[in-house]
Amino acid sequence: MAFMRADVNDDSKAEKKGEKNIMDNFGLNTDFSNKDVKKQYYLRFIKQLSDWYSNGKTPELASEDIRFSLELQKQKLQSIGLDMQLQIQKQEGKSNDSAPLSYADNVFVNSIFAKNKRITTSIRNSQKELYIRTADCMMTVIMQNLKQGCVPAPDTPMCCPHCGAPSTLGRLESGCEFCNTKFLMDELYPKIMYFFINDLGDADFDQKKLKNHIVHCSIFFLLLSIVGMIVRMVIGELDSRRLIIEISGYIAGSIIMGVLFGAGIWFIANSFGSVKLLGKQARGLTKAGKSVMFCHKMRNLDPTFSAEYFLDKSISLMKLLVFSENPQELTICQCSHPLPEKLREIVDIRCRNSGINNYSIRDGVCNVSVTFYTDSLHYRSGKVLPKSDKIRMSLRKIIKKPTNLGFSVTAVTCPSCGASFDAEKAQNCPFCGNAYPLEENEWVVTDIRI
Ligand SMILES: [Zn+2]
Ligand SMILES: [Zn+2]
Repeated sequence: MAFMRADVNDDSKAEKKGEKNIMDNFGLNTDFSNKDVKKQYYLRFIKQLSDWYSNGKTPELASEDIRFSLELQKQKLQSIGLDMQLQIQKQEGKSNDSAPLSYADNVFVNSIFAKNKRITTSIRNSQKELYIRTADCMMTVIMQNLKQGCVPAPDTPMCCPHCGAPSTLGRLESGCEFCNTKFLMDELYPKIMYFFINDLGDADFDQKKLKNHIVHCSIFFLLLSIVGMIVRMVIGELDSRRLIIEISGYIAGSIIMGVLFGAGIWFIANSFGSVKLLGKQARGLTKAGKSVMFCHKMRNLDPTFSAEYFLDKSISLMKLLVFSENPQELTICQCSHPLPEKLREIVDIRCRNSGINNYSIRDGVCNVSVTFYTDSLHYRSGKVLPKSDKIRMSLRKIIKKPTNLGFSVTAVTCPSCGASFDAEKAQNCPFCGNAYPLEENEWVVTDIRI
């Protein structure tokens, strides 16, 4: 079991005793509370996300981190003259609802909610459509809520959901200093912390390709018959009366053969497609043991650490680096080398799988290297190219205090003077000038390769 969402969503397996220990190691709990309420929020967020891509309306339920990442992606697309649309529809036929899983710290619970969706992604420039694909996907949303009976401290740093200014929970409840909007606690939560899309396969494949194969095969057999007939006419075997009877027979025969062979070819191609998909899903499995060990070690030092949290966090950091125009300006980027050019081509990225390569925990500092197997869209010389990439990322964090699920780098409190500020681009507090201890609170990226 590597860091795979497909695994954590399998509730029937989780029931088994043996699996339960592994689940504990990963820091996950099954969470059936308010499933319908969560579903409502899930559907609302998905609607808001499609709206964002079609008309730029900020998704209200999205955390500041998601908003920042969406904004960066949009800026990147615009800077190369592209426009991307995402259409999220219900999947026809049965749709798998996964059992919600969750992980928690002392104050917050992050619930993982996933459903199968049919997603059409299209990218165009000012003249024409460069890319369009409809795929069956698993759309995962991680929703943050307060733990039952928990009220976060008023000095909990938080961005104003309305104007985005860094503030604190207490101040937002009495009215944002910048836009004066007042918030009730249940307007601030739940909040969507992360969302992920996993490609499961081409949705168009079945109908369209099957029809094409049948038509092509029928034409092939018809041509074969015609050639045969011409040969027989030339050598004088056929008279005109028999010709008409034979032609109609050949046409019918060709169609039957076309259906048989076309379906056969389709079946084989489809099986290969599944094998290919299976191969893609299985990448990273070899790293499963390392991943379990890493989580186990980390949970000894930090009881609120969970594999899912680490996965969510690292993918969202990767997205920030990939979409940012100047990734090295971001405080979470501590890479000594500029990002590889191939990584900079990426305009959309979906993570299929991931696993831990290696890790070390020494003197309270954890260094870990993760590999992501992604389905990305690259933009190169005027073309949008779908590619399967392998991205290796190294991260570092000082393990001093337990993971705080409510932490966001976009709103932090300065430990020296107590001021709220955005630590995304400034390492030092703009009010007192002291350096902010980012690595005690957040994972930073020390290297990224493709
Ligand atoms: Zn505000
Ligand atoms: Zn300060």
